[in-house]
Amino acid sequence: MSHDPNCLFCKISQGLIPSQKVYEDEEIYVFKDINPAAPIHFLMIPKKHIPMLESAESVDAPLLGRMMELAPRLAKEQGCRPGKDGGFRLMVNNGADGGQEVYHLHLHVMGGPRPWKK
Ligand code: AMP
Ligand code: ZN
Repeated sequence: MSHDPNCLFCKISQGLIPSQKVYEDEEIYVFKDINPAAPIHFLMIPKKHIPMLESAESVDAPLLGRMMELAPRLAKEQGCRPGKDGGFRLMVNNGADGGQEVYHLHLHVMGGPRPWKK
């Protein structure tokens, strides 16, 4: 597994920095956002250090697909209401203009009753 020793999210996925874990498997780590913008807000990351979307390669496509597929299941487990009246927001901030602060690719999953902070 390729990690960047200076990367915050690599350290979190390896358990070197504490986090509120939501889910983990061989390839994916999921934890609660430290500064939630919605009643439910967690982050899904590949354990592999992929800084941003441009850094992803064809070989990463199944992994990224699996993260998308996993999102609704975890959202439901975390309390997001399913279906049309519930749901959640899936967001990737990519690059400075996209508002990315941590350069380890992550999916924001946000949900819960509105209004939200953002
Ligand atoms: P982004 O702007 O997409 O790069 O967002 C980075 C996100 O990581 C923000 O929502 C932060 O609140 C969150 N974050 C930063 N440090 C931590 C941490 N130690 N544990 C959990 N979430 C964090
Ligand atoms: Zn990383």
